[in-house]
Amino acid sequence: MKKELFSRENHKEDTIIKIGNEEIIGNNKIMMIAGPCSVESEEQIIEIAKRVKESGANFLRGGAFKPRTSPYDFQGLKEEGLKLLTKAKEETGLKIVSEIVSIEDIELFDKYVDVIQIGARNMQNFDLLKKVSKLNKPIILKRGLCATIKEWLMAAEYILNEGNPNVILCERGIRTYETATRNTLDLSSIPVIKKLSHLPIIVDPSHAGGQKYLIEPLSKAAIAIGCDGLIIEVHNHPEKALSDGEQSLTPTMYNDLCQNIKPLINIMNKKI
Ligand code: PEP
Ligand code: MN
Repeated sequence: MKKELFSRENHKEDTIIKIGNEEIIGNNKIMMIAGPCSVESEEQIIEIAKRVKESGANFLRGGAFKPRTSPYDFQGLKEEGLKLLTKAKEETGLKIVSEIVSIEDIELFDKYVDVIQIGARNMQNFDLLKKVSKLNKPIILKRGLCATIKEWLMAAEYILNEGNPNVILCERGIRTYETATRNTLDLSSIPVIKKLSHLPIIVDPSHAGGQKYLIEPLSKAAIAIGCDGLIIEVHNHPEKALSDGEQSLTPTMYNDLCQNIKPLINIMNKKI
């Protein structure tokens, strides 16, 4: 049987992903992505971008198109949100990560976004995966809420099979019977992925834990088990956030987290 493109048997060395000449992940480089769940205003995104950059983040996240559970919840600023992210990039130099939810928006993402996020709800939206891969930008593929590791890797295969090798897997917790956490962070998926695949894998402790106090311990565990990066929600006023405020760190909390994970990053022989 043909070995899949994601497979370690097909490609022995870890994949290193670059933007231009710059290595962004792999080769012991930890990708630190931080920012609000949703872009809400110019003042909000610029302030957060400056603060997370000072703490050591190298990418700014921010949702402009939001896949919300309720149709009555804030759906994102759409193109305006992408423009505000671009302003924040101009001010700070941080590259942009944002989630695409529809094929219709592909040209906007080509124009404004450096790394495209496919959210958990769209992990198996195969048409979206195929079309997005054509942009040849790095893609963060989040694990589906109820997806097995095999299903997740096969979703990555759709992107690789279109000729885009720049896939970053993102473990963001899966749904279990537990209700004390928003999802259950499946830390075992990191060494499993490392065995089965050459693709880099990052962890999202924000959507896994769902509450502020869980973000730092989950981040430490993720680094210690060998992940290649962290995507963390940070908001300058979490209590007023239009989405995911409960799990959003303040910039000061994010700064502390960055300081506190440094020794672990060193022990793992990695660098930001
Ligand atoms: C997000 O990153 O804000 C998000 C919606 O994440 P997920 O797709 O993992 O739920
Ligand atoms: Mn969110």
